[in-house]
Amino acid sequence: MDEALQRWIAAHPYLKPLARFQAAVDEAVAAVPVPPLAPARLDAYAEDHAAGVPLLHSAAAAVDLAPAGAQLAEVVARLAEGPHPEKLRADAEALRQLLRSSPDARAAALAFVRGDAEPAGAVAQAGLLRFLGWSALRATLAPVLGAYAAWRAAAAAGGEDPWRRGECPTCGAPPPLAQLSSDEQGRRRTLTCGCCATTWAFRRTGCPFCGNESLERLGVLELEGEDRLRLDTCGSCGGYLKTYAGEGEERVFLADWTTLHLDLVARERGLKRAGASLYDL
Ligand SMILES: [Zn+2]
Ligand SMILES: [Zn+2]
Repeated sequence: MDEALQRWIAAHPYLKPLARFQAAVDEAVAAVPVPPLAPARLDAYAEDHAAGVPLLHSAAAAVDLAPAGAQLAEVVARLAEGPHPEKLRADAEALRQLLRSSPDARAAALAFVRGDAEPAGAVAQAGLLRFLGWSALRATLAPVLGAYAAWRAAAAAGGEDPWRRGECPTCGAPPPLAQLSSDEQGRRRTLTCGCCATTWAFRRTGCPFCGNESLERLGVLELEGEDRLRLDTCGSCGGYLKTYAGEGEERVFLADWTTLHLDLVARERGLKRAGASLYDL
């Protein structure tokens, strides 16, 4: 764990159990070999991209996640066997049974993680399955998403990334997080996906969830003692973005779990958690 993150957790001790859970999962993912995925067919995907179809939902892009099924099963098995809290081991064991039953069960689990289907069986562990599924897929998809980011950057160099949508260009989930930073062109805003961790450019003002651009119905909630963080709120849909106004500590402030206390503040204020998160409150 890097130093900035350690300092952050020391200052927010209620995050410690979550940090331990996160470290256990990271360790399990790191210990399992990452299966190679075929590259996305980005040229064939261009039309879908322009039409707003996320990469993983495009038949033309043809990203086949099937090789990740055995990897996910292995990650789950490690958590079931590791020196972890009883609840985590028991839930992981239930998922292990599910994933071990057949290749079809593993394919169905991946379809659920990707957002295409309801989970078959083991519904009680659906949240953990989704969490572990994305944790494994972030590692597996890294080369595919690196190429996708370069492809989008090349498209943007000739003008604007044609995406500019409120949902993730990779998986289609609505974002829980945003970052405000500066470059030669001035201040810019990027959104971060809570599932696949893709980051993409979005207009400076406006709500990604409902499209509201009316300044009277957009607000900023400053948080006492958290000068680098704020909530950008929308009076039209009640949604909010946890926004990091700074640079250099993205690993701390764009990880979602590190700022769950902001989601609690938002809930107390009657705001709606419109962004997709892998963490229950
Ligand atoms: Zn995503
Ligand atoms: Zn809105």
